[in-house]
Amino acid sequence: MINLFSDTQTRPTPAMRAAMAHAEVGDEQRGLDPAVNALCRRVAGLLGKEAALFLPSGAMCNLVAILVHCRPGDEIIAEAGSHIVNFEAGGAAALAGAMVRPIQGDRGIFVAADLAKAIRAQSRYAPRSRLVAVEQTANLAGGTIWPLPVLEEVAGLARAHGLATHMDGARLLNAVVESGLSAADQAAMFDSCWIDLSKGLGCPVGAVLAGSADFIQEAWQWKQRLGGAMRQAGILAAAGLHALEHHVDRLAQDHANARRLSDLLAGVPGLHQDDARVETNMVFFDVSALGVDAAGFVARLAERGVEMVAMGPTRVRAVTHLDVGEAEIDQAAEIVARLAKEILAAGPAAA
Ligand SMILES: *Cc1c(COP(=O)(O)O)cnc(C)c1O
Repeated sequence: MINLFSDTQTRPTPAMRAAMAHAEVGDEQRGLDPAVNALCRRVAGLLGKEAALFLPSGAMCNLVAILVHCRPGDEIIAEAGSHIVNFEAGGAAALAGAMVRPIQGDRGIFVAADLAKAIRAQSRYAPRSRLVAVEQTANLAGGTIWPLPVLEEVAGLARAHGLATHMDGARLLNAVVESGLSAADQAAMFDSCWIDLSKGLGCPVGAVLAGSADFIQEAWQWKQRLGGAMRQAGILAAAGLHALEHHVDRLAQDHANARRLSDLLAGVPGLHQDDARVETNMVFFDVSALGVDAAGFVARLAERGVEMVAMGPTRVRAVTHLDVGEAEIDQAAEIVARLAKEILAAGPAAA
């Protein structure tokens, strides 16, 4: 199986497993796990924040940040395609009592002028605009990178209006490797920011949320309340430390592989790529010209040994990661091209 379903599909490498086996551990809940503490210090430094908190998942990082920033009835401004809006089971509403005002951006990115229109004037009638959230990179939009000046303008405007700012940095390190701009610079204007360890970095579990010391103190209480406090979690944190040491620079290979896949699929009849600009580790293409839907296409692809995912009725997503090499990209592209050709040859009725 060539698994391009997501960069969450990575398996811990033998070296990572060894690092985990040798982790020095303690009681995480009491602040006594040396590996967790080292990981938190490391990520706080990486993101230029005072403190950080180890959490089981990225979704919990978003949720805890929202719980700290917002009160019931508050409004979060986020891009319409963002993870917070689409893939977190309505956690902001269900657990923080916050509502979301989605902004339609361009390729997942909105600018200060868009934000200006979404910030509400204070009124007895309106919800309180409270938090602006951005997603670096923008997943559903194709792994696109928010340019630094846009991040600065958006966050600057939010701050000028007294709003808090949050960066969902699930793939921030992809943006760092591709742009050459440091994570700290990109996160500088954001009150909270997190990175995912269990995506392209290859860890089995974990994400790290960073912010001011006060923010993290409150976040700790939410972690406890939500049942996210752990015990000898250093086993997991050791994987994170290993990944930050060994798996960051190599993200460039994933980006090269995504561009390679995009190039190989570019000439395939019946497949239409949303946008030829593959910026990081994702390739999206549309299969409507084949007369099939994305779910059907992906199911037939899986029978031939390639996993991708349907993202919308006719859009298919492929994500590159450390368990997929160049040869497998070539193989996957060939299998996709052959399937597309067969569907076209069979005609619309057979599809
Ligand atoms: C995957 C993802 C999340 C959630 O992370 P998990 O670790 O899977 O919970 C949040 N935001 C974005 C942009 C993601 O891609």
